[in-house]
Amino acid sequence: MEKLIYLDNAATTKTAPEVVEAMLPYFTEHYGNPSSVYGFAAANKEVITRQREIIADTLGAKDNEIYFTAGGSESDNWALVATAEAYSAKGKHIITSKIEHHAILHTCEYLEKRGFEITYLDVDEKGIVNLEQLREAVREDTILISVMFANNEIGTIQPIQKIGEIAQEHGILFHTDAVQAFGQVPIDVDVCHIDMLSASGHKLNGPKGIGFLYIRKGVKIRSFIHGGAQERRRRAGTENVPGIVGLGKAVERAAMSMEERTAEERRLRDYLIERIEKEIPYCRLNGDREQRLPNNVNFSFQFIEGESLLIMLDMKKICASSGSACTSGSLDPSHVLLAIGLPHEIAHGSLRLTLGEETTKEDLDYVVDSLKEIVQNLRDMSPLYEDFLKKQK
Ligand SMILES: *Cc1c(COP(=O)(O)O)cnc(C)c1O
Repeated sequence: MEKLIYLDNAATTKTAPEVVEAMLPYFTEHYGNPSSVYGFAAANKEVITRQREIIADTLGAKDNEIYFTAGGSESDNWALVATAEAYSAKGKHIITSKIEHHAILHTCEYLEKRGFEITYLDVDEKGIVNLEQLREAVREDTILISVMFANNEIGTIQPIQKIGEIAQEHGILFHTDAVQAFGQVPIDVDVCHIDMLSASGHKLNGPKGIGFLYIRKGVKIRSFIHGGAQERRRRAGTENVPGIVGLGKAVERAAMSMEERTAEERRLRDYLIERIEKEIPYCRLNGDREQRLPNNVNFSFQFIEGESLLIMLDMKKICASSGSACTSGSLDPSHVLLAIGLPHEIAHGSLRLTLGEETTKEDLDYVVDSLKEIVQNLRDMSPLYEDFLKKQK
């Protein structure tokens, strides 16, 4: 089979052709700086406001609560660092979870070096945060709770509304990294008591390098980039107009197609899970079966290495991701898989397959057929598997 099978949509997605089309005139025709006075350029100001409205509408927010950033990582950094600074007179304690994206975890480490104290909540074997532990972790000096909406590795969706209620009860700000959930799960910032929310364009068929941070009106947050008056003086820099237009288009598409698209993804996801569980022995589904992103499948296969699996899949033109050695090139298994209690050797044999809007059942049949063969071949070479078979006898 020649076709590329892309099942790494949690890493990034294909920019939709309509999104590219919407962006193009803003490079070549409407290239004016939105801060300029003349009409040709100033018209872009309204274009930007329109995109803010489109995004705000999908969240039950107001347009002046949407701040454009360069993506999910920046939004996460901004939410944490600026809140920490702005509220440090009230306290220096922040609560987060052990399974956050590194954009949150490494920012927390940075804040720890600056005198903030961070509580990292445990998750259960499905990856859901412990609400009782959250209640107990709250202190007089807690200023922020930051828990991701849905996990990027195992797809688990958190009880965000309940977390928001606990935050509100105690008068603590609540931030959520919704980079994976936005566009996949309906979100209402008022219902969930969310004060800040991070999202990113390239995870929902939009362009890379653009995202936003929702900041509820009234939240005291410091400016993140100092300079011009853009983004209500909080994030300076000439606006990425083509990116903003692309993001607006991507969000509009995702909101319009959400019900149908996610129903189809869920159907395909469950088909893939069912076939793998039936046809490949000694595997384990990671994450919750119900509270799960519609496009996420994550399995651990005993006796093999996720990295070898990826290389063999790549030879069959299948793009996937493993839960072990990630961008850092380290050989440690993923912090998420360890947090749900997987032993190192099982976590090492993990595979994440994330479906996209173009994924078909035929793609998945080809993937399962390939996977069966590859897993068997790798096991046949595995001393661990040999030992296991010997013990069985
Ligand atoms: C991808 C991702 C990010 C980072 O977003 P970028 O736009 O790539 O910076 C942050 N959090 C989660 C959960 C993600 O999946």
